[in-house]
Amino acid sequence: MILGIGFVAAFLLMEGCAWLAHKYVMHGFLWSVHKDHHQPTGSVFQKNDLFFLIFAIPSLLSIMFGMMKGAHGLTGIGFGIAAYGIAYFLVHDILIHRRFNWFDKIQNRYFKAVRRAHRVHHEKPFKEDGESFGMLYIPRKFYKE
Ligand SMILES: [Zn+2]
Ligand SMILES: [Zn+2]
Repeated sequence: MILGIGFVAAFLLMEGCAWLAHKYVMHGFLWSVHKDHHQPTGSVFQKNDLFFLIFAIPSLLSIMFGMMKGAHGLTGIGFGIAAYGIAYFLVHDILIHRRFNWFDKIQNRYFKAVRRAHRVHHEKPFKEDGESFGMLYIPRKFYKE
């Protein structure tokens, strides 16, 4: 089943992968690509957007091979990764950074905490001593008003 355990597991694991990639890769050897997300240049597209393409590769490969081999679990994993990418884009790029003026009126406890947590991440404009690298999973402390 495509929307089965593989889909859910991939979606959940992606939060961990995104955290690791953000902390150790984007704030590590690929800082040059992530830098313009912390030090905006004012242009519409950021080099940082390339990470969406990088994360799309395992998703596309899983969907492709899953469909070719009739391996629905693998196809599900591919769609799970893709769903996480979409959720990340909606939350990070639209809700937090407002790259489009969609859902302006959203004001719930969870989204407030998401914004607060990511604001802490953006307080540090440099590669080192970053904080709060996750996206959808928000530690309890950020729920406090
Ligand atoms: Zn960062
Ligand atoms: Zn950001």
